[in-house]
Amino acid sequence: MPEAKLIQPERPKDLPPIGLDDLFPFQCRRDLDCFTTCCQNVSIILTPYDVLRMRKALGIDSTEFLEKYTLPAFTKEQKLPLLLLRMDPETLRCPFVSEAGCTVYNDRPWACRMYPLGLAEPRQATSREQPFHFLLQEDLCHGHGCGNTQTVRQWLDGQGLEQFEAMEAPFKKLMLHEFWQKGEALSSDKAVMTYMAFYDLDRFRRFIFESRFLTLFDVDESRVEAIRVDDEELLDFAMEWLQFVLLGARTMKLRPAAHEQAAKATAGTAAAGE
Ligand code: SF4
Ligand code: SF4
Repeated sequence: MPEAKLIQPERPKDLPPIGLDDLFPFQCRRDLDCFTTCCQNVSIILTPYDVLRMRKALGIDSTEFLEKYTLPAFTKEQKLPLLLLRMDPETLRCPFVSEAGCTVYNDRPWACRMYPLGLAEPRQATSREQPFHFLLQEDLCHGHGCGNTQTVRQWLDGQGLEQFEAMEAPFKKLMLHEFWQKGEALSSDKAVMTYMAFYDLDRFRRFIFESRFLTLFDVDESRVEAIRVDDEELLDFAMEWLQFVLLGARTMKLRPAAHEQAAKATAGTAAAGE
């Protein structure tokens, strides 16, 4: 794994919110002189679903995708693993950009679909603050004021974001959980485990099927068969497992033998302490 870089994404407090029914004139076109300049020297955070879609489109293993195309990063206080799309170190261009545009367009990441809109979200799922969209108007982008005038809602619909939002909801819920506000950092073991379950789904699948996992956890047979072959099912399952191991949520069922084992371990620890 390449050396990690510390980042803490900040909410853009100075940009005004833009409502779902507000209009904005914007069009991204190949004949604009800025075409693909937004695909270089940019920090793009990848979500687990972005990784799932992109590595599937490329037909490669998740571990290979992570090694070739990403840089790990961690939130400052809690060391929650984040992932950045790695720009080419020499040209600073995205590895997927060509003269004709994005070569993974149908499976491009959430952040690329959103641009030039951004989404500011509260730091906690329980916060009373509402998420809001904002419009990025950067000098490099000449699509503003061009062609189509559309509402934010129309823009979002046109970018195929619905599927992304549905698949990313459990990830978002986990990242915004109030547990993280207490400031406790993840141990390195848990950070590694979280990285695997978020992003390295092929490795996570091997972990499930090639370790004692299924002797410890009671998982419905139909679910076991689904996660064996279906990446989206596996991602949902990974989020449930992380809620169990990181937050102590009752999202997984331990088998009776695992309960006994845990009780014996606790009794052993207590006896050793007497
Ligand atoms: S993934 Fe595609 S749209 Fe996103 S930065 Fe790379 S080339 Fe551009
Ligand atoms: S800079 Fe703006 S208009 Fe130009 S290609 Fe990128 S998104 Fe489209």
